[in-house]
Amino acid sequence: MTTAHGDVETPAFMPVGTQGAVKGVTHRDLDELGAEILLSNTYHLYLRPGDGLIARRGGLHRFIGWNKPILTDSGGFQIFSLAGRRTIDEEGARFRSHLDGSAHLLTPERATDIQAQLGSDVAMVLDECLAHPSTEDEARVSMARTLRWAGRARDRLLALRAGPVNGVVVTNPGQAQFGIVQGGVFPGLREESARSTAALGFEAYAIGGLSVGEPIDVMYDVVGRTTRWLPGDRPRYLMGTGTPEDLVESVARGIDLFDCVLPTRNARNGQLFTSQGRLNIKNARYAEDDSPPDPECGCSTCRRFSRAYLRHLFVTGEMNGATLNTLHNLHFYLDTIRRIREAISFGRFESFRRAFTERLSGQPSDS
Ligand SMILES: [Zn+2]
Repeated sequence: MTTAHGDVETPAFMPVGTQGAVKGVTHRDLDELGAEILLSNTYHLYLRPGDGLIARRGGLHRFIGWNKPILTDSGGFQIFSLAGRRTIDEEGARFRSHLDGSAHLLTPERATDIQAQLGSDVAMVLDECLAHPSTEDEARVSMARTLRWAGRARDRLLALRAGPVNGVVVTNPGQAQFGIVQGGVFPGLREESARSTAALGFEAYAIGGLSVGEPIDVMYDVVGRTTRWLPGDRPRYLMGTGTPEDLVESVARGIDLFDCVLPTRNARNGQLFTSQGRLNIKNARYAEDDSPPDPECGCSTCRRFSRAYLRHLFVTGEMNGATLNTLHNLHFYLDTIRRIREAISFGRFESFRRAFTERLSGQPSDS
């Protein structure tokens, strides 16, 4: 995938830097881990420090000191999660800030403007995120609205590219915009959404509204069906997913781009992803365990530190514990996706997938 701030090898995993920083690690760590693209959250940056302030600093890349690609979400997902603090109508989403209760209106145009000011390399359209479970009728109404919003967001981006739009500072003229396929767990709606969204002519496409509580086989089924209706020459981004197994299984179904908070959030809670499954470092049985978290991992944490030490850091609340766990988990994710890329280029992805799955299912994991 080619962006205004360089190329990204796909399939790719994007660490989540909500506030312009990946919790627990520095940009230098991310460079060393081989992260090629970051995800940042528009909702949070819009509220604080504000897209205007970031535009005056020359855009998000300059403000946070990251010269490689950045993707921003539209802010919609966070707003839809503000149960009781938001209402949705055709114009957009009205919500109250979780910080000070102030009232805001996010429209498809406004979400596009904010991301233009942030200057991410990939901007996402504002979509309606439907809760699971929903009826087919609810999913149809929501999908149709998402489609109308997508048309408005695309029109706005094209207007911004054509010339100045009332005070919006475009900090990255090479910004791409991705459309988002919705439609819940209903194949017919997903097909209609994919075809109609593709007809709007975005640079690439994402699948939204999954990993929201549906069974895992349903998610894989929706992904497998939906990718078939998306252009084969454009990256496909599965939003907000998932586990290491989800990465492998979704690549098998045609996905190129992932983001997920699991490796970073779980690291801070003491859960490590390893080649043998998940490991909860707080468990008492690791108190005198001198082995590294994952004997097969080459990360800086595993090369130097024992489970006993990491457990001690966790139990005492030492901030180094969260950092060392995050370095390991991000390494595991980025290394998994690198091995997937290698397997694809050598034409042995299917055998890699089988071995990966057998390995994880054959080992007992900490709960
Ligand atoms: Zn490691």
